[in-house]
Amino acid sequence: MEAQNKQTKRVNVREALRRVHDEIVSCHACNLRGGARLPVPGSKIAEIPDLERAPLLIVGEAPGREEDLQGAPFVGWAGKFLRKMLQRADLAHLTYITNLVKCRPPQNRDPQPEEIVACAPFLDRQIEAARPHIILALGRFSAGYVWEKFLHEVFDKPFPGITRVNGQAYTLEHNGERLYIAFFVHPAYILRRAREGETTLPKAFYAHLQGLRFVLERLGYPRRKRRYR
Ligand code: URA
Repeated sequence: MEAQNKQTKRVNVREALRRVHDEIVSCHACNLRGGARLPVPGSKIAEIPDLERAPLLIVGEAPGREEDLQGAPFVGWAGKFLRKMLQRADLAHLTYITNLVKCRPPQNRDPQPEEIVACAPFLDRQIEAARPHIILALGRFSAGYVWEKFLHEVFDKPFPGITRVNGQAYTLEHNGERLYIAFFVHPAYILRRAREGETTLPKAFYAHLQGLRFVLERLGYPRRKRRYR
């Protein structure tokens, strides 16, 4: 049994996540699938870190128009910003990206509670498959879900709201391993506020990512030399 457990743990995350992706693609558990062009399970397989664990797992909310067309998460305007920040922080190659809800809600409306209930078991399984060192939840729905799953019991407190947890990071034990949970407002919100002249949020987001990079460096993921500035 022990040997079998070790064997299971050695499965590369890319392979383990591929299996979950395949199931997501054939899911019809809620009515979002009928209105979506493509389900968006998570990062393209080739972009998933080819490691035993995903150093950083990012949870967004739900696909938008561009994600729905491409079947990949965070590839629209907010996604370009997120990916640029991840590159700058030397995190892109260590990151697996997914969403709380895998199919695009009509007109990008908020995901409904019953849609979250139907879809979240996939996120749970992605977390188990990826065994991330850090989970970064972006936006209030994903932050709320991640808080309730991991931190409600620890703090004996329901989700206090995205404003309260924005920029915070917590550590806990999960399945006998240390897990960091971090929160930030959604990249689309950062960009909207930046357009209105609120320029501190992008800097705070980058600083937050640098903090997560520092954690990963201490966990044995050395920084790569910068090829350009
Ligand atoms: N916003 C999200 O939360 N997820 C995406 O994949 C794209 C935009």
